[in-house]
Amino acid sequence: MPDEAYADPPDNGQPEQAAPLAGLVLVSTPIGNLGDLSSRARDALARSDLILCEDTRHSARLLSAVGVSVRTEPLHEYNEDARIAPVLAMLRAGRRIALISDAGTPLVSDPGYRLVRAAIAEGFSIGAVPGPNAAVMALTLSGLPPQPFLFLGFPPPRSAARRSAFGMLRSAERAGLTATLIWHEAPHRLAETLADMAISFGPRAAAVARELTKHFEEVRRGTLTDLAAHYAGHAARGEITVLVGPPEEEDQEDLDGQLTRALADHSVKDAAALVSTATGLPRKLVYARALAMSRPE
Ligand code: SAM
Repeated sequence: MPDEAYADPPDNGQPEQAAPLAGLVLVSTPIGNLGDLSSRARDALARSDLILCEDTRHSARLLSAVGVSVRTEPLHEYNEDARIAPVLAMLRAGRRIALISDAGTPLVSDPGYRLVRAAIAEGFSIGAVPGPNAAVMALTLSGLPPQPFLFLGFPPPRSAARRSAFGMLRSAERAGLTATLIWHEAPHRLAETLADMAISFGPRAAAVARELTKHFEEVRRGTLTDLAAHYAGHAARGEITVLVGPPEEEDQEDLDGQLTRALADHSVKDAAALVSTATGLPRKLVYARALAMSRPE
């Protein structure tokens, strides 16, 4: 017998009755296409006493477009800690509070985690209306293995930190991690991030998903090397999610490939430093290999 919670809905043509939403409700909003706001999301917003928004002016456009006129207050990265006590007090007084972000699923690369953690600690009921999420939509369109996947938010903006973050992932892969990797990225950083990814992860399968659910939606698939070369010559626009497939090759081939590319433009010492950071491999080992590769037969 299936567990009751997972049983098929009754065949009476009626939608399944949702659990009543009370307390704090996390409401997912569109990532570009207004049509993706679900009717349950609209109801949850319309029935709340207060809507916490990442940016109240940004959300005012969405709320007015769907005919919701409920008081809004800001809850963003910089005031979240200070907002927790007053929000918990409102929940204690029995208020229904909705939390939305500028786009997609709140908390995912967006504010709200600290509030949710505090509300759970106080035993308040928390609900969610699921909906659009750029990372999951990009994953389903990428043609890369859908599970396991590892969502990493935005890569560090500075190249040195980014290369070392990718190097740590390579170390984790060497220790057995095998997952599709997903990042958000800003358009003006896409080319340099892809170039750093190509150095760290080699020419493996990847995808760049742009402007999902919008007029100029595009998913470009290829090797990291191809994608890096493409975006080096074509400035990217709009909102972007980058995906890198799991590793396929053995490390030694991978190391040699990366060293060959790095040695084309750098001295042995610089190439070894670059590849050591990118791969997370010890500098001495990489330097010895780079030296051996750069010697004539
Ligand atoms: N909470 C959101 C979600 O659930 O998708 C993510 C918010 S995060 C601050 C914003 C980043 O998500 C953008 O910079 C971009 O990297 C990615 N993103 C958002 N909308 C997108 C879209 N329509 N197409 C591709 N990527 C998108």
